[in-house]
Order: sequence, then structure tokens, then C-alpha cells
Amino acid sequence: MSHVHIIGGGLAGLSAAVELAPQAQVTLYEAGPACGGRARSFHDKALDTVIDNGNHLLLSANPYTFRYLDLLGARKTLKGAGEPLFPWYDLEDDISWDLHLSSGRIPFWLLRRGTRVPGMKLREVLALSRLMKADKETVVADCLAPGQFSRRLLEPLAVSALNTDIRSGSARLLGNIVQQTLAKGGAACCPWTAAHGLSESFVTPAMAYLEEYHADVKTGARVSALQFDGGRVSAIETSFGVVPLGGEDAVILAVPAPVASGLVPAVEAPNEFESIANAHYRLEAPVEAQGAVKKAGFVGLVGGMAEWVFLHGEVLSVTVSAANRYTEWRNDEMLQRIWEEISRALKPVLLKPLPEAMPVARLIREKRATFAATPEQDKRRPGAQTSYVNLALAGDWTDTGLPSTIEGAIQSGLVAVGALGFRSAATGAGGVK
Ligand SMILES: Cc1cc2nc3c(=O)[nH]c(=O)nc-3n(C[C@H](O)[C@H](O)[C@H](O)COP(=O)(O)OP(=O)(O)OC[C@H]3O[C@@H](n4cnc5c(N)ncnc54)[C@H](O)[C@@H]3O)c2cc1C
Repeated sequence: MSHVHIIGGGLAGLSAAVELAPQAQVTLYEAGPACGGRARSFHDKALDTVIDNGNHLLLSANPYTFRYLDLLGARKTLKGAGEPLFPWYDLEDDISWDLHLSSGRIPFWLLRRGTRVPGMKLREVLALSRLMKADKETVVADCLAPGQFSRRLLEPLAVSALNTDIRSGSARLLGNIVQQTLAKGGAACCPWTAAHGLSESFVTPAMAYLEEYHADVKTGARVSALQFDGGRVSAIETSFGVVPLGGEDAVILAVPAPVASGLVPAVEAPNEFESIANAHYRLEAPVEAQGAVKKAGFVGLVGGMAEWVFLHGEVLSVTVSAANRYTEWRNDEMLQRIWEEISRALKPVLLKPLPEAMPVARLIREKRATFAATPEQDKRRPGAQTSYVNLALAGDWTDTGLPSTIEGAIQSGLVAVGALGFRSAATGAGGVK
């Protein structure tokens, strides 16, 4: 039986491992104490509770993600309203609205006052078609028309999906998202989150599945170098010794872009990154909302610093994307400002108001949350195949056609499996594209 060595236990590496486990002997090397990479949960001492390494939103139009969850029997660990419902609040104009997409392809929601973006003009919607037709050089801002449809929907969508400012973000990458979501209708746009944490949805079930197939998952196993011989990877140097590879052995490198370029200098990869800041507030009792916010479990904000507020029982978690612009801000200043914003936005929908004084809180800045999704960086993304016959690349930074997302990471793992000649849902029969 062939033996595949997977380096990196984020979702790209786990996706490859899960796909390969029934077909090959699998060894996975993860540098950290647990798998999951950027999509993991951990116990935070200051908050004294388990939190996710950032809020992660999935959409029903993420076919590879749902296939992965279904293989693991983990779809039921997600929560969501089960409908394309997005509650919003505008901090500048102090108004709220519910964006409720029509479930079919015909966008009736654009015509109805109660479901569309308030103040929008129908001609602004042409931006969607410009985004979908955009070439590799165009930035998002060049496709948008001024107005509330852009300000209250497309800009926040762009900044959170690309994690990059609209003036430098790739229109092609956003256009691909629009193509797979809004253009397909509301059924493709239902939002989902992990009900009890990212690890419980994406990592723990994968560990159980891999164990069933006797895959060897080594945590605390950092790979420091690869040895090459005659156009192949011939050995892996790890923190616990050198692993020589046999003639049938192959390697999937599923580490972040800078680590991949360090291990294989011939690999050109994105080299500019954007941060995401997540503010977490620990309340004394679970926060209970009513109406659409209760149903959705989150609210999107425009006109301030906070962008998405997620209600996780006693914890309110807030996302601030493209956060390099806030490097100069101190953590306590950001936490206070975000607390004031969310207190205002949630006031009308909470059963009990939030306390005036900010509770115990934590700001976590993930400096290299994603590659900067600019046209220039997009061009630096390699495919899965390399010049070494037994080495394939995976990771959200490879050329998936998507920005850094769970869907892109999972898809990339499958493409890497296919590139090594194994059966894969991304390339062979049974694919979900
Ligand atoms: C705060 C935040 C919010 C996000 N929000 C969303 C969202 O709402 N929706 C969405 O779809 N996506 C979101 N993302 C993006 C998503 O988390 C990533 O795209 C995805 O998790 C990347 O998976 P990956 O496997 O490609 O990389 P990683 O998760 O980075 O995995 C790489 C793994 O390799 C390991 N590694 C590194 N070096 C070595 C080495 N030398 N040897 C062995 N192992 C090594 C690392 O420890 C890590 O586990 C968000 C990301 C962040 C940070």
C-alpha cells in the first residue's frame, strides 16, 4: 500500500488525510499540540472558557465543506437559521434591517422593501455582474457603484470574504464568491456556524475517522526540512528525527505559505498577509436576543469598527477583518470602542440589556490570518502539482479560485490528493463541483 506523508494538520491537511485514509497508509505531521490550524478551538485563560480562533461563517454553497462534514457525520454540529437571513445594523445611521434573500435563483428579494438593502438603487446591482466578469487585474472598488447596496452589502461582504480592503482586493476572487452564492439564489447563501466550536465540528470527528483507518497523526511534530534526490522528496526531517521515504511514498505539504516556501524554495507563494482581530466578551449570563438576530445567531454591522457580532451563549465574539489598518490601536482601546458599538447595535434586540461597564474581554489579533487577496498576490498562488513527482501542495493559499476560506482549504486538500494520482472528489468521479 502506498504511504502518504501529510505535513500540516489544518483543514487542508485534514481534508487530504480523510480522503486518503481509505486508499493509502497516512501519516500526518502537525507542529502544534492539536490539529485544526487557524480553524481550531482552545481554552482561553482570561475568559475561562473555550473559544474559537476567530468566528468562522460558512455558507450552504460550500460543497466540499459539507461533503467533508458528511463523511465525518459532523453536519449536525453546525447551527444556523436554515434560511438565507442576515440581520444588519448601520452604526452611522442607527437603523437595522434584515436581508432575506429569496430561496430561488430569481432575486425577488431585491424588489421587496422588507427584504432588500434599505436605500439601495436597482442600478447598483449591476456591480454583481461586473464582479463576475472581472479579469485578474481588476480591484473590487472598480466594480462598485456608489450607493447603499455597495455600502451596506457589497463592501462588507468584500472585506469579510477577501479580508482585504476594496481598493486593493481582487474583483475576480470576490466575483467567484458571488457566482457561487448570490448568483445561485438564497438556497446557496444560508449561513452556518459551528454550534459548539470549530474543533468539535472540523477536528474531533476527523481524528475519530482517521483513527478508524489506522492513520498515524503525530502532533507536536514540526517538519524542519525536506531532503530531495533525483526529482523526488527522499526524506522528511522532523522534530523527532529523520523519516526516510520509500519509492512508493508521497508527500502533501499543507502548511502556511511562508512555511511552504521555506521548505521548498522553488515554490512561489503569496508573501503579503492581512490580519483579523477578534474581540471576545465574557458575560455573566447567556445573551438572549429576539427576532432575526435570535434566529441567525449573529448580526452584521456597517459604519463602525465591529463587523460581525456572534452570540455564543455567555460569550459575544466580534470580528474585525482587514485589521492591518488598526495596527496603531491599543487592544484596550479597540475593545472599548467595539463594546460601545455592539451595545448600541444589540440594544433593540436583546431581552436584557448589556451591562454598561465592559465585562472581561480579550482581543486576539491573528497577524497572518489570510494572504492579502489582491490581484498581485492571487497571481503568486501555485497549483497543487510541483516539479517533484511525489510532492503536492495544499492550503488555502494555493490556487483554489477562492480567497482564504475553509472551503478553499478543504478543496485544496482534495486537489492535492488527485495530483498524486489518488481517487479524489475534486478531480475524479463523485466530485461535487
Ligand atoms: C480569525 C480568522 C477568521 C476566519 N474566518 C473565516 C470564515 O468566517 N470563513 C471561512 O471560510 N474561513 C475563515 N478563515 C480562514 C480559514 O480559517 C482558513 O482558510 C483555513 O483554516 C486554512 O486552513 P489551512 O489548512 O490551509 O491552513 P492552516 O490552518 O494554517 O494549517 C496549517 C497547519 O500547518 C501546521 N504547520 C505549520 N508549520 C508546520 C511545520 N513546519 N511542520 C508541521 N506542521 C506545520 C500549522 O500548525 C497548522 O496547523 C478565518 C481565518 C482566521 C484566522
